[in-house]
Amino acid sequence: MTDSTGSHARSDPATLRARYEEEIAKRLVEGRATIRDLTTDEVFSKYREDPFTPVARRNPVIEELDVAVIGAGMAGVVAGAQLRKVGMQRIRLIDKAGGIGGTWYWNRYPGVMCDVESYCYLPMLEDVGYVPKHRYAYGEEIRQHLENLARRFDLLDAALFHTGVLTSAWDEERAHWVLRTDRGDELRAKYLVMAVGILNLFKLPAIPGMEDFQGASFHTARWDFEYTGGSPAGNLTKLADKVAGIIGTGASGVQCIPHLAEGAKELYVFQRTPAAVGVRGQCPTTDEIVATMTPGWQRKRMENFQAVMLGRPVDVDMVDDGWCHHYGPLISMPRRDGMSDEEYLAELERFDFEVMELHRRRIREIVRDPAKVEALMPYYRYACRRPLFHDDYLAALDRPNVTVVECPTGIDRITAAGVVVGGKEYALDCIVYATGFEAEATALPRRAGHDIRGRGGQSLAEKWAEGPSTLFGMMTNGFPNLFIMPAPGQQAVVTVNHTLITVVGAEHIAATVAGLEERGVRWFEVTEEAEADWVQTIVEGATAGARAVMATLPCIPSTRVAYDGTEPAMLTARSGSYGGAGLGDYFAFTELLASWRDAGDFAGLRLVLEQPSSRAVHGTDAAALGARATPAGDAGAR
Ligand code: NAP
Repeated sequence: MTDSTGSHARSDPATLRARYEEEIAKRLVEGRATIRDLTTDEVFSKYREDPFTPVARRNPVIEELDVAVIGAGMAGVVAGAQLRKVGMQRIRLIDKAGGIGGTWYWNRYPGVMCDVESYCYLPMLEDVGYVPKHRYAYGEEIRQHLENLARRFDLLDAALFHTGVLTSAWDEERAHWVLRTDRGDELRAKYLVMAVGILNLFKLPAIPGMEDFQGASFHTARWDFEYTGGSPAGNLTKLADKVAGIIGTGASGVQCIPHLAEGAKELYVFQRTPAAVGVRGQCPTTDEIVATMTPGWQRKRMENFQAVMLGRPVDVDMVDDGWCHHYGPLISMPRRDGMSDEEYLAELERFDFEVMELHRRRIREIVRDPAKVEALMPYYRYACRRPLFHDDYLAALDRPNVTVVECPTGIDRITAAGVVVGGKEYALDCIVYATGFEAEATALPRRAGHDIRGRGGQSLAEKWAEGPSTLFGMMTNGFPNLFIMPAPGQQAVVTVNHTLITVVGAEHIAATVAGLEERGVRWFEVTEEAEADWVQTIVEGATAGARAVMATLPCIPSTRVAYDGTEPAMLTARSGSYGGAGLGDYFAFTELLASWRDAGDFAGLRLVLEQPSSRAVHGTDAAALGARATPAGDAGAR
């Protein structure tokens, strides 16, 4: 078989370019991104159920809180922990899940792990003195760490699990948020923190006939260990006599396929787009790493990684893995002075071809079956898709009990017996959907999954219908005392290690709350002027910087990656980052937040103070009241 990715292809960008175009064209099919809306789908409602923790009966909770935090994943736990550190007492985390962890609660598929280095990814390691066991942490370790953090900051016992918030509404008269839940709770909280997650809405593609399938089926975010046997560590013993199928070869698919291949009698991998899987280099934590863990080490390491992702010079690349060798240098390739768009695009293309050639070479080195080599070859731009790393994926696919079924246009249909591709039916005992999540940039109101009403009953979904509108990506006019944890597409910045912006956001929110409390503030809100300025800054940045050029790259359409333009509903110029397109400028952003806090004047916030005169008059224009009744304390509109 001729391998068109050999030295000939490397020296002939035109051939490679044409092949890439061909692969894109193959995949431009109607309905490619159509999904069943699992927030409402009744046929597949069992897919939403929690297979891990039984729902416990409890009485409704009616109470007053200092802070309600919606979400008990990493963002909720870290926000709660930072708020504890500044002395907030009555805090409750609320989550639909049966425990702490968010995405790490729900995603327990065999092999689940984080491909961002553990020393950067597990938050607040120094606070609990924990050292991750491996360079890349497995899901259970991350979930346990988050639970330990919650326990350490006394957030666990008060958390309300298996509880969905139905409405969050600002009560103007009493100046607090009122949350009603599907467990009959009524929580009244001075502050509300939205920490609803960025990968909390998993996706099932809408494939004709899928409801007819008579075997077992589930999504990777709700793994059925009753059926497969084993645990997140693998050992799927109950599959030994089963023919399994998996749809999806993204980050989740790549991690669980080796375990399915090992456990099942036969495995069919339905591959729409071949994964480009780089070296992971997993290893136990070494003494050498532990020796670097002197006070302040974690933030330094996280910021060093982010600097590399932003193409900034660093003395030492501390993480020094595939993200740093390929992804960062590519997506943040510096643009030399005077370089035209064409020259810059040519540089990007050259490096991209090189990186993808390394990935293709790795396939040729590991996979022995020539037909599989051909099927697994990824022909697309590295910059277009989320990078993947795994040490066992390719070898697993090479096993004789594994068949790779190419389906560039998707699955034809699903029948009672199995999956049909290209007119051929593959009979299966079970189907695993590794079909991912709604993009991280999904608008907050949808991710929050409930009605959020601010002053005058204004709906956040309506206010943000044309894109987010915030100050710092964390506060929004008309929604007093509300904080929103930073997320991609939400006017803060994006960090490849999402933990970093989560910790930064939580620290900023906690410090702001501490300042407001010290000042005796009853409620605050962002002024319209400050918000308009911030939105303007973001919109102007959306077309600035070298990263904007990335948006013009020819890409295979993706159902997930936000910046490729296939999900335009959530991608407006307002969904940008501070400091330029794409990731934005983390360092400028954090400096700005720090100087805002240091100034101590709450610039851009209208403050209404807690004092008898302001309490005495209800139902008036609170903003005016603040200005009149508390002139000394009103930071006013700046
Ligand atoms: P994903 O990256 O969106 O991948 C979904 C897979 O399903 C893709 O291979 C997709 O094919 C395929 N697919 C979707 N609809 C299909 C259809 N109708 N027919 C056939 N194939 C279909 O999802 P994921 O793997 O769950 O990862 C989602 C995100 O979770 C990641 O990007 C990452 O942010 C996070 N994650 C992180 C880690 C980690 O180690 N840090 C691990 C797991 C997940 P196409 O490629 O052709 O669209």
